Formats: sequence, structure tokens, C-alpha cells
Amino acid sequence: MSAGFDGLGLDARLLDALTTLGYEEPTPIQQEAIPPLLEGRDLVGQAATGTGKTAAFALPLLQRLAKLGTERPRPSALVLVPTRELAMQVAEAVHRYGRALEASVLPIYGGQSFAQQLRVLRRGVDVVVATPGRALDHINRETLQLGGVAVVVLDEADEMLDMGFAEDLEAILAATPGERQTVLFSATMPPRIAAIARRHLRDPVQIRIAGGNLPAGAVPQVRQTAYVVPRAHKLAALSRVLDLENPEAAIVFCRTRTEVDELTETVNAHGYRAEALHGGMTQEQRDRVMKKLRGGTADLLIATDVAARGLDITRLTHVINYDVPNAPESYVHRIGRVGRAGREGVAITLAEPREHRLLRNIEQLTKRKIDVARVPTVADLRARRLELIRASLRETLLAGELDPFRVVVASLADEFDPMEIAMAAVKLAKEATGATADEEREIPEVAPSRERPGREKRPARDRKGEGVRAGRPGGRQGRAQDNGVARLFIGAGRDAGVRPQDLVGAITGEAGIRGKEVGAIEIADRFSIVEVSEDVAAQVIDALRGSKLKGKKVTVRRDVATER
Ligand code: AMP
Repeated sequence: MSAGFDGLGLDARLLDALTTLGYEEPTPIQQEAIPPLLEGRDLVGQAATGTGKTAAFALPLLQRLAKLGTERPRPSALVLVPTRELAMQVAEAVHRYGRALEASVLPIYGGQSFAQQLRVLRRGVDVVVATPGRALDHINRETLQLGGVAVVVLDEADEMLDMGFAEDLEAILAATPGERQTVLFSATMPPRIAAIARRHLRDPVQIRIAGGNLPAGAVPQVRQTAYVVPRAHKLAALSRVLDLENPEAAIVFCRTRTEVDELTETVNAHGYRAEALHGGMTQEQRDRVMKKLRGGTADLLIATDVAARGLDITRLTHVINYDVPNAPESYVHRIGRVGRAGREGVAITLAEPREHRLLRNIEQLTKRKIDVARVPTVADLRARRLELIRASLRETLLAGELDPFRVVVASLADEFDPMEIAMAAVKLAKEATGATADEEREIPEVAPSRERPGREKRPARDRKGEGVRAGRPGGRQGRAQDNGVARLFIGAGRDAGVRPQDLVGAITGEAGIRGKEVGAIEIADRFSIVEVSEDVAAQVIDALRGSKLKGKKVTVRRDVATER
């Protein structure tokens, strides 16, 4: 069992699920929210993505379902989320946590076929995770009956309001029983959210994980950098950071035991000398690991927060956060492993685009700036390799004892210039430290997610696309930022009567993003290509797939063939 979760009142089967997932202790939001939710209280929680808020509401929700017994109404729980991406993520989390309780879950969002959703809804499903628009469509068609719903969760409520879903939310809540338990999570608490909470929640527990104050000197003097990297490229980014920084010894933090084990295996397969350290290991195993690290037979320690608490290893020069920690306080504990006793230390954080807000929370707590830097490029890496070769050559020259090689150079010197001979030797040295194909692959640069999604309301479909040039997409006439531009293929063009302003209107209206994030547009007879900022690309694809263009459903996907 997960000792850290004991005492919250969770069912043993849920605790087992958490152990299997490798969670070692509850995050602050889970610690605060789970007990009152298990008592059936309504709750308003201020928490951003990455704080562990999904488990904070999903675990009590699942426990409530189990209590209702197998004859419970279906659905008994409804979770409303702003985007398709989040609907899938939350459904996946509910599924993982609730496997042993045999709870069924269905994500429903725009763009997916109604028929498929209908089949599952008819069969009966315990938890529906839906975007508001599609939920309302089903309610109006009477294919989603909410009369038996005992728990409603509004997740990322501020984003749902920003996307223009306020009226949809009201209508959906009106279709649920008045005596339901209602839970609202939001990263920010503007007055509009407070008003919704007042109208729809009964005497809610209010939770805000406050920034708190740190005692003076609690934050060590370390260089702090963050790279914003999509999940799929994190491993490549970690390798690159390790290659560039060349730490004497580093600790890489993960959120769960499972991640620690997986990452250790992967980096070892890539030639590093890494050891895992987590709360599931015996004291003897841990001692062995620490000995290897202190003795220099391992250079990387991959660890969870719990296992690494209080560690003092003199060799450590770098702390790398493979994930942004769930709580800002954990970040401070983590980076405290380096920069001790006046030594220099480096803290590097790999953040996913949506975790940007967590970095701000950390800055607020530590009162220090975290530089958000460009992920080192292949060119940076090559330059660094050459720099290392130069340094090795210099050492070799200083060490002398080069005579045995004189004959090689001398015999070539008749034919070639000595400078060229030396350059050829450097080339050979470089090839000997050859880069793998992986290392030579560019990691896409993404801008952090905007602090807030665009303010445009959903119904504003007829907004004019003023100022957007129908230029050549490869050119830079458009207004999307140069860093991280995605090209989207849209399966309708001039033949279907599509004009640039239709595309801009649909994108700003449906995806709730600002016109300035739409770049160049090209309209061909049968299709169109639109450039948008990479950080909103997934959002735009989701939104357009769930809506119609000129009255028709259209194919929307990344334009892989011509992507830079
Ligand atoms: P969320 O804020 O719900 O999106 O969660 C962010 C990430 O933290 C997800 O990948 C979860 O799997 C992970 N997570 C949530 N709770 C815990 C926990 N108690 N320990 C470790 N990881 C967690």
C-alpha cells in the first residue's frame, strides 16, 4: 500500500491502484481535497494542470460510485472539461484509478462520431467525461440522461468560460439533480468563476494551495533553466541537456516510481550510468545505489521526491526535473540537493507546454526567475562536441609523449599541409565520438502555452479575417510567430467556397484563440493550408474537427508532407 495516502480515507482498491502507478505520496491538492470530497462536500479548488488535481477529484468520485453499488444509475458521474485533449486525459486517468472497481468511463467530445458515442452510452457507462458543447448536443437529443448523476465536476472551469461555454454549462447543470455533489477546479478564480460557484455549489470547501513563505536562505544559489518540450521529445531533450551540460553527477527527478524505473532503463540503454532510487526499494538496495554514486561508478541518479529527500552527495552538480514537480515546495527540496555549502549548482527543468503555469508558481514561491530557454539544437550539440575535442587535444598536447606518432604525420607532410593533416585528425576524432541518428534529430521548439486561452467567445464565428494575407504558406507573410509554426491541412478549399476570413473566423471562434496566432493561409481548389502557432495547433485541430466549415464537416490534420 502507498503509505503516503493512508489516512485520507481511500478504499484499499484505490490505494492499490496508486501503488501500481508508482505514486508515493499525495500532492498538496490531493491531501486537502480528498477527505472533504469523500464526506460528500462540494468543493472549489484553485489548482492548475500538473498539481495532481485529476486524482484529487477522480479518486473520491470512484469511491462514491463503488458505494452506490453495482445497480447504480448510469452515468452516476459527469466531468466537464474544456478540450478534447483533456477529456481523453481525464478519462484515461479515471480508467486507470478505477480499474479494480470496475468503473466504466467514456470521453465524449466534438469531432468524434456520434454513433460510436451512442453505442457506449446506450450500453451504460459510469463516468462521462465531456466537453460542454458535445454534452449538450447529447442532452438535447436525449441520448445522455443525467437524472441519476450523483457527482458533477467542472474541470478547468476558467478555460471553459473563456471558450464561451458559460451558457452550455448552465444548461447542463440544470439537467442534473439538485442534490448532486459539485466540484469545481480552476487555475484562476476570476469573479465569474466565483459567481458560478455561488450559484451552483452548496457551502463548498475552498482550497487554494497558497504560495506560502520560505525562510530566508531556503532557496540555494543555483542557475535555474527550464526548457519547454513536448512529452514525446523529453527523452531526446534529456540526452541533449546531459551531453551539453556534461555534469559530473546529476540527479534526475520523476514524479512516480514507475517513471523512475522506466527512465533508468531507457537512459542506461542509451549508454549512461544511471541508478534508480525510489520508495519501493529496500534500505539495502538504496545503500548500494548511494555507494555507487558516491564512489563514481554511477553518474546519474533517477529518483522520486520521497526517496531523495535529505540526500547529501558532494559530487552532485546538476538537478534535472524530468517533470515539473506537482508542488512548488517539492521544487525547492529538489534543487536543494545541489548548490550546497556555497558550491555552484545547476537546476534544469523539462516542462510540457501546459505546465508553464507551474513554473510561475515556483517563481512566486522562490522569488527567483527561472530562465525559459531554447532547447539546445543539433548545431549547439555539434559545437559542444568540437569544443570537447579541442579541450582533449590541448590536454594531449600538454601531456606530450607524442613521438610515436611523428612518423605518421611526417610521411603525410610531403604531400599535405600540416594544418590540413591536423584538421583530418580532428575529423576522425569527431567521427569516433559519432552522433547517433537520435542525437541528430532536431527537437521541435515550442512556445509555452499562453497564460490564458484567447478571450474570443465561441459564437463569434463571423469575425472578419482582416489583415490575413492569403500568401504562400512557406513564406513568412503571415502573422504567426516564427518560433514553432504548425501547418494544418484542411480538407476544403475554393471549390467549397472557402475564403481566408472563413478559416480565420472558424479558428478564432471555435478554438477560442486570437487572430494573431493565425499565420499565412493558402487556399487551393480542394483544400486549404493554414499556419498557426505550434502551441495552439492541437487545440485548433480539435476545435475544427468538432465543427463545420461552410456547413460541412471537413478533414483537419497536420500537413505532414510539407511541415518544415
Ligand atoms: P494533473 O494535475 O491531474 O494533470 O496531474 C499531473 C501529473 O501528475 C499526472 O501525470 C499524474 O499522473 C501525476 N500525479 C498525480 N498525482 C500524483 C502523485 N500523488 N504522485 C505522483 N504523481 C502524481
